[in-house]
Amino acid sequence: MSFSAVVVAAGAGLRAGPGEPKVWRTLGGKPIVRWSVEGLLAAGAREVVVVVARDRLGQIDEALTGLEGWRAVTGGRTRAESVQAGLAGVTAGRNQPVLIHDAARPFVSREHVGRLLAALDLADGAVPALPVADTLKRGEGLVDETVSREGLWRAQTPQAFRVGRLKAAYRRWPANEEPTDDAAVLERAGGHVAMVPGDPMLMKLTYPEDFLLAEHLAGSRRIVRTGLGIDAHRFGPGDVVWLCGIRIEHELGLVGHSDADAGLHAITDAVLGAIGAGDIGEHFPPNDPRWKGASSDQFLRHAVGLVKAKGGRLLNADVTLICERPKIGPHRQEMRARIADLLELPIDRVSVKATTTEGMGFTGREEGLMAQAVVSVETPA
Ligand code: MG
Repeated sequence: MSFSAVVVAAGAGLRAGPGEPKVWRTLGGKPIVRWSVEGLLAAGAREVVVVVARDRLGQIDEALTGLEGWRAVTGGRTRAESVQAGLAGVTAGRNQPVLIHDAARPFVSREHVGRLLAALDLADGAVPALPVADTLKRGEGLVDETVSREGLWRAQTPQAFRVGRLKAAYRRWPANEEPTDDAAVLERAGGHVAMVPGDPMLMKLTYPEDFLLAEHLAGSRRIVRTGLGIDAHRFGPGDVVWLCGIRIEHELGLVGHSDADAGLHAITDAVLGAIGAGDIGEHFPPNDPRWKGASSDQFLRHAVGLVKAKGGRLLNADVTLICERPKIGPHRQEMRARIADLLELPIDRVSVKATTTEGMGFTGREEGLMAQAVVSVETPA
């Protein structure tokens, strides 16, 4: 089901201790606000509106660089004002689902979102809720009483609503009161809110020690995917061969619609394969005149951009070139450097190998050459 999302990142997070407000700190090498936005995009959000303080607009561009499908709006003085500013930025129709999410809960996943959207069929709103495990006490220093935890739940975010219904509920909410979550606003307006199973992974980073735990959990929320690419091009008239982004003088050229760089084509296909994004011919049809004679580095850059848009990053690339000639050895380091540059990787994460087929087959007869590439990509689970 299509849905929009509002991520509230305008708060100061004073309980988290001194330093940057918590959503701007890094977790697993990424700003915390990016975790939430990536998680919602990966779960299928059609748009994510991120609410930030006015002086953070530049910072959010930087924190979310490479992601597509989000926009930032300026928040208000309170969380309620910020949520309403976010809702105003949602373009979906009034009956469409919208998820309101605290940026300080970084580990939102497709499963969480799926449960909430399913519950919206039966109720006006839906919240993830966890039973209270600890015994509850009331008091100041000394215990006045033990409070029964029966029927008590801890509400988390994201919380799901219909756009128009939540907007209307906020319009009726008294200006001098501050709701602690969005479901409370809908409840006050007479809406029915369903509880779906919450998840400890939806924890809110509040106190300094939460960040230590989250840093451990961060590693478990990423998966590594592998992609394989294979390409071959035929030799033809010419005196230059392009391979792995390098120009090599040769007694023949390579025939192809673009510059026929089989090395970069194989890597591009491997990158696309790792993220399940089709193949190079789908993205750059060989009958499209735009790509006639095109330099193949732009194909690879496009594929790398798609990885980033998924919140992923390249880990390494390993290329094998199969030909009798030209000899690859003299160009190997330059090829590695060029590929590393295109993949935005250090050179020791890029390997270029070469082999012949000992005179056998089309590469042995020097009718053409072939390239194979394997890449690894890390993406949100
Ligand atoms: Mg090709």
